[in-house]
Amino acid sequence: MKSKKTGLSYPFGEQKPAAAQWLQVAEGVYWVRMPLPFALDHINVWLLRDEIEGQQGWTLVDTGVSRPEVQDLWQQIEAEYLEGLPILRVVVTHMHPDHVGLAGWFCQRWQAPLYMSLTDYALACLWAIPDQGDAVLGGTGGVSAAVHFAQHGLVDPDALTQIEQRSSYYAQLVQAPPKQVDRLLHNRVLTIAGRAWRCMVGYGHAPEHIALYCEELGVLISGDMVLPTISTNVSVFAYEPEADSLTLYLDSLLCYLELPKETLVLPSHGLPFYGLHARVEYLQQHHAERLTETLEACQRSEGCSAAELVPVLFKRQLDMHQLTFAMGEALAHLHCLYFQGQLQRRVDEQGVYKFYAT
Ligand SMILES: [Zn+2]
Repeated sequence: MKSKKTGLSYPFGEQKPAAAQWLQVAEGVYWVRMPLPFALDHINVWLLRDEIEGQQGWTLVDTGVSRPEVQDLWQQIEAEYLEGLPILRVVVTHMHPDHVGLAGWFCQRWQAPLYMSLTDYALACLWAIPDQGDAVLGGTGGVSAAVHFAQHGLVDPDALTQIEQRSSYYAQLVQAPPKQVDRLLHNRVLTIAGRAWRCMVGYGHAPEHIALYCEELGVLISGDMVLPTISTNVSVFAYEPEADSLTLYLDSLLCYLELPKETLVLPSHGLPFYGLHARVEYLQQHHAERLTETLEACQRSEGCSAAELVPVLFKRQLDMHQLTFAMGEALAHLHCLYFQGQLQRRVDEQGVYKFYAT
């Protein structure tokens, strides 16, 4: 049933695969859910029946994080569901730990190639090095992340210490990826079980996110670019402090409006749904409203930092993990308006960036 409010409908209702089980969602496409150690407690990954050069097997899309309990669940699925056939290749939508975490493990055990955008592959390789990745490059943890957030007004010493200490946060959830990658590019077509799946690049959430669209099946594996109930995190992090992530994300959403309205969307979080256009239009409106709030907050004579914008945009209580994403997202909204010329910025006496309406 289509919801009048959201324009979305869920063809499988509230049904979802139990732990170590799968649910078929389209011909040859199977849905697996893996647990996550965050407030967002699961990721959806996909097994696609495949045949490559005469060899029968499976293509896996995304993997879950590297944790023993996730590996146990995978070994149960491999034993019970894969008909004794191998994983022939591993496709990863983007570099975030819940997607790429076990790619190295799968590729090594099955001697399977990894398919991924080169940008996300390279960053995953760097960040997966313990004590060096985040600390050097600055994702959501480590010294440079703490400096970045402090420059944007996060002054709570406890919070900054916690962020500094998360320097191996990524490496704890991601095994080293394999040494080689098969590069995914926008519009590259992967043939999976004889069907064409077209890569659709998306920016703003991850450096170079790849979604997969199969016209024949009418199915979009949307990764994190389009989710049914939560809005995708769009952040400016320390490794790319001048990024205009929100503009990139909003521009990237447009290509989904070119797909048929009746496309079945398989998202990385939440339930498979119909209503792709309605969801994209909601997200566009959502960010337009957040941008209006951002502009209003910057009209005060004292200006507004990213930290001061967080409670304006996020009205709920945030844990430390969520706070880092909220800081990144607040900055993405400020940067969007700044690069449009609607805001100016100055560094105050405390060394904090303040944004002012022009
Ligand atoms: Zn993600």
